[in-house]
Amino acid sequence: MAEASSIRPQSAASIAQWDFEADVVVAGYGIAGVSASIEAARAGADVLVLERTSGWGGAAALAGGFIYLGGGTPLQQALGFEDSPANMKSFMMAALGPGADEEKITDYCEGSVEHYNWLVDNGVPFKESFYGQPGWETPFDDGLMYSGGENSAPFNTIATPAPRGHVPQMSGKRTGEKGGGFMLMKPLIETAESLGVRAEYDMRVQRLVVDGDRVVGIIAKQYGKEVAVRARTGVVLATGSFAYNEAMIQSYAPRLIGRPGAAIEEHDGKAIQMAQALGADLAHMDATEVAFFGDPQLMIRGILVNGRGQRYVNEDTYPGRIGQETLLRNENQAYLIIDEASYEEGCAADSSTPFFRFQPKWVAETVEELESDMGLPEGTLQSTVEVYNRHAARGEDPVLGKKKEWVKPIGSPVAALDLRNFTAGFTLGGLRTSINSEVIHVSGEPIPGLFAAGRCTAGVCAGGYASGTSLGDGSFYGRRAGISAAKG
Ligand SMILES: Cc1cc2nc3c(=O)[nH]c(=O)nc-3n(C[C@H](O)[C@H](O)[C@H](O)COP(=O)(O)OP(=O)(O)OC[C@H]3O[C@@H](n4cnc5c(N)ncnc54)[C@H](O)[C@@H]3O)c2cc1C
Repeated sequence: MAEASSIRPQSAASIAQWDFEADVVVAGYGIAGVSASIEAARAGADVLVLERTSGWGGAAALAGGFIYLGGGTPLQQALGFEDSPANMKSFMMAALGPGADEEKITDYCEGSVEHYNWLVDNGVPFKESFYGQPGWETPFDDGLMYSGGENSAPFNTIATPAPRGHVPQMSGKRTGEKGGGFMLMKPLIETAESLGVRAEYDMRVQRLVVDGDRVVGIIAKQYGKEVAVRARTGVVLATGSFAYNEAMIQSYAPRLIGRPGAAIEEHDGKAIQMAQALGADLAHMDATEVAFFGDPQLMIRGILVNGRGQRYVNEDTYPGRIGQETLLRNENQAYLIIDEASYEEGCAADSSTPFFRFQPKWVAETVEELESDMGLPEGTLQSTVEVYNRHAARGEDPVLGKKKEWVKPIGSPVAALDLRNFTAGFTLGGLRTSINSEVIHVSGEPIPGLFAAGRCTAGVCAGGYASGTSLGDGSFYGRRAGISAAKG
């Protein structure tokens, strides 16, 4: 056998005996892996999942649980929101680029209602209630929320706003610890088990096994021993992102150095490298989701300024967009300027992230004093607030298009919250795959026997992000991977 640490593919001819065998072998038992397993089993395949940790779930089970679905799902309809695949596509093409994969997005939008029904048929519960407050998530068990800035500038002029963040019902939530993601994973795992899907835990996949050009198995390590796993019809890679691979982050997404977030340490890019070693193509390796540790209930009531004292994003948009604008385009420098009354009002409102409500660092009677205390160049913050207040007096924000209901002149006393370096994120790029989840070789041809889904692939997001697109494309293209792998 090759060195245990080697990532190069190994020839099937070198394997004297297979330790495990199945038609379809799935690496990783998170959202993409379970979705692949269910569909492969339904297609008649004998399915074996190899999972590195001691249990199923992955990042998906820790997630808030947004699944990005639309085009007129029964939940959207029941709650009175109109949507269509074309409208959903207009939003996704505008918000998830530049360079969004139009074929994938079209396919995803057209299949979205069917995918919602599939989740429901497999036991995922959605409560018929809409949460309309600014927030990262609903703090309650509501089933639907805006999760990508659909109802704010600039997207509310590009597509008709419709909420598409579908959240499995979960009581007693704690953001980042106990969310709707568990209630997505649990029923899907139960479905997989009922279909006879087998799982081997503490099994870390290392490299692919090939017979000529075709992938026919995986070498993994279990309890310190290398094992060979034969896949009679196909291998599905579903081991997550490369957020925790420092060398890959350095090479592809250096803005995330030292700030992985909303991922798990097992997201080490291994599947990407295993397939690269076979000639797999990559896409959008620089794309990142960026979380921003500010409470939307406060941000929306103030103005966000960068290190030059200038506004740079409408504060009523999706907080992940604020994160991207801050980290990727404003040197990770952000201050929230807010008056006392608005700060108190924001602190009293519902929030799923009350731990993001920080104390002001500077407080002053005038903006001039505040600007000086913050060490900003003279006149910068003053002119920003003067322009904002002049238009806000008429309930308008012609500069960045914040919605009328949240536009209010900033009064006195006035404070600044120091939100510099308050970002973290995960990677969105990965293996280039077809809409049938085939892994594409650099030549443009699919690699026979190799399929992938989830955050080890480049999915529907190429640059921008909306909450729910990871669990969304992970489950959607996980299903496709399972169907394709069962066919061989
Ligand atoms: C706190 C938090 C909140 C989030 N909220 C949302 C949200 O609301 N909506 C959304 O869309 N996304 C959300 N995300 C992101 C989302 O959970 C992930 O992007 C998504 O789960 C990726 O799916 P996946 O199947 O690729 O990876 P995962 O679901 O993480 O599954 C990958 C599995 O592969 C296993 N694995 C890794 N390496 C190996 C190996 N070498 N061998 C075998 N197994 C291996 C892992 O242990 C894991 O079980 C959130 C994440 C976190 C942590």
